[in-house]
Amino acid sequence: HSIPVITIDGPSGAGKGTVCRLLAEKLGWEILDSGAIYRVLALASMHHNILPSDEESLIPLAAHLDVQFLSSEAGTKIVLEGEEVTHSIRNEEVGGVASKIAALPRVREALLRRQRAFRQKPGLIADGRDMGTVVFPDAAIKVFLTASAEERANRRYIELKGKGHDVKIGDLLTEIQARDDRDMNRSVAPMVPAEDSIEIDSTTLSAEEVYQLLIKVVEEKF
Ligand code: C5P
Repeated sequence: HSIPVITIDGPSGAGKGTVCRLLAEKLGWEILDSGAIYRVLALASMHHNILPSDEESLIPLAAHLDVQFLSSEAGTKIVLEGEEVTHSIRNEEVGGVASKIAALPRVREALLRRQRAFRQKPGLIADGRDMGTVVFPDAAIKVFLTASAEERANRRYIELKGKGHDVKIGDLLTEIQARDDRDMNRSVAPMVPAEDSIEIDSTTLSAEEVYQLLIKVVEEKF
C-alpha cells in the first residue's frame, strides 16, 4: 500500500490522543480516532434503546451508522444523525457501553471498511486498540502506548475536575480497570501489542516527551 500509516494502540488514558494529534500536526497527516467510532455507535445504540447484548440489532446499526467527522482548525467535530456529539460521547457511561459493544466480532467487522477509508494521502495516524494488529497490519510504524491504571485514573481525574465534574478517583480507577479487562480479554481483536510494535510506558512521561521519542523513530523511517 502506498499510503503510510502509523498506529498507536493502548488503553484509555495512556496519552494516545494527544500524541496522535502532535504527530498528525507535525506530519500534516490525517487522524483516525477509532475509539470515537465505537463511542458514537454506543451513543446511537442508547438513543435507539438497543442493548449491548443485542448483536443482531447492532450489526445493521454499525453498518449504516450515520456519522461524520468534520475537521477544521478548531479540531474535529463529530456529528451523529445530524446532531453534534463531539463532547457527549466522552463520558464513562458511553465508554463502558462502547467497550461492551466492541467485544462483538460482527460489529467490529461491520466497522472495518469505515476505519480503513481514513487511509488517505499523505498518510494516517490511527489511534485505538487493534490498529496495528487488525485494521492496518501493514502499518509502517506501530506503537503500543501504556501507563499504569493508577496514573491513567489520575490523569482522568485531573481532566474531569478541571471541567468542574464531581468525581471520585477510586470510581474512575474501577471503571478504567473494568474497561481494560474487557478490552484485553475479548476473543476478537483483543488489546495486545502487535508483534512488531514499539512499546512505550508513559507512566512517568508527559505526552510531549512521548512525542519527542516517536518523532525520532519517524525521522529514521521516513
Ligand atoms: O479509546 P476510547 O476510550 O475512546 O475507546 C472506547 C472503547 O472502544 C474502548 O474501551 C474499546 O472497547 C473500544 N475500542 C476498540 N477498538 C478500537 C478503539 C476502541 O475496541 N480500535
